[in-house]
Amino acid sequence: TDDNQKLSVFLKSGIYRLQGSNAVFMDPVRVLNLSYSHFRVSPSSYYSRFFEPNPSGEEQSRVSQNQRKRKRKEKKPPALNEKEQAAEERHQNARPILMKAHELLLGANDLLRNLGKLRSDGDFPSHDCEPSTSTSDEHSLVELGSVWQAPLFEVSLYPHQHHSPTQGTSYIFHGWFAEVISTYCFDADSLSVQNCEKRNSPAFGSLVANETNSDMEADFLNRKYIIPKQSSFYMSDLKQIHGLIPVKQEFGFNLIVIDPPWENSSAYQKLKYPTLPNRYFLSLPIKKLAHKDGSLVALWVTNKEKLRLFVEKELFPKWGVKYLATHYWLKVKSDGSLIGELDLFHHRPYECLVIGYCDPKGEESDYFLKLKSIPDGQVFMSIPGDYSRKPPIGEMLREYVCGLEPARCLELFARELLAGWTSWGNECIRFQDCKYFYKT
Ligand code: SAM
Repeated sequence: TDDNQKLSVFLKSGIYRLQGSNAVFMDPVRVLNLSYSHFRVSPSSYYSRFFEPNPSGEEQSRVSQNQRKRKRKEKKPPALNEKEQAAEERHQNARPILMKAHELLLGANDLLRNLGKLRSDGDFPSHDCEPSTSTSDEHSLVELGSVWQAPLFEVSLYPHQHHSPTQGTSYIFHGWFAEVISTYCFDADSLSVQNCEKRNSPAFGSLVANETNSDMEADFLNRKYIIPKQSSFYMSDLKQIHGLIPVKQEFGFNLIVIDPPWENSSAYQKLKYPTLPNRYFLSLPIKKLAHKDGSLVALWVTNKEKLRLFVEKELFPKWGVKYLATHYWLKVKSDGSLIGELDLFHHRPYECLVIGYCDPKGEESDYFLKLKSIPDGQVFMSIPGDYSRKPPIGEMLREYVCGLEPARCLELFARELLAGWTSWGNECIRFQDCKYFYKT
């Protein structure tokens, strides 16, 4: 039946399109796994919260605290100030779209039956790729990148062990940077066999690329990282982001996804990664990073009205980005229910992705006209991952990118790598640590 077919598509691709709507359910683990040939993202390390039938102690106390707060509030609803009213208006506009999407999810019984299994499925702890000898904990890349020795640290990439050079692995490191390393490694049938040993390159402030069709492994200060096929990364602080600007605009990017470390009043959030004041993002060189024919730009924002206004009135104009659409990420639990009440003012169970178009030439090209077809109000539903990871929605936006095939995609402030993408940020290989993977 149609439903069976959709489910089998979902189990392969991680994407389930809900009939007659702009709504999609996504399993980020499956989507990420399309980037790997020999490794798999371990679902149990991706997902952690929102699977337990009962919230953990910590969660429970937070929930009951919220309930208490809510009860207090319900007695006497506080008057909203002007900004809060504007935020409420945005919410009221989004509400019917979100409700409809969620309703459709709750009606997709075959899919719902599988949600609870997403965390355990395909997880083979015995094939964990972390070496049993490894006693060290995950690196703090943000800290390592800020010490004086940072420019001296090297990362060494080598093809995945299953593929010895004579089996036809070829790999190239290249980029448009000063620190270009260019090494070709041919298979036995081709012209020559060259040195296919580990290749070192600076870990910070340099583009490191795996342009092969196979995963590579990377050693960095005694820890192993998994580098997906056709991916590259540039790990640096915002101060060095100019190193990412291509020498020619025709090598620029067609799709740029940005998840800035917005300042947040919540102390809980503060512990996870360093944040920056909004004005720092004004200087992001989006126009210079964009392809000469233009780029689709997708920016994650919070539900704070002040921030939304900053993006509309200052940030997008400064970047040369014209607004196109808003998409939503609606967060659900493993039973399909929302992670929180839809109408709870300060704890919305959704986040927004504001989408625009950057045209470095400043003229509305044909390309721009095609992009205008991007639908407004698409809803992506998923079960949130640990460490407030965002689902890889960028992969879904690729279909709107026209022009270059395959599209050149860039993620700014990334913490993971994806096939077909360049990732930049001060800890952009964080979730590539082998502890998040198992070997197939
Ligand atoms: N989208 C990511 C994900 O789903 O995992 C989360 C990105 S998080 C909102 C922002 C990232 O920006 C963090 O990894 C943080 O370390 C990084 N960051 C903070 N300050 C930075 C700086 N000055 N330069 C570069 N990256 C920075």
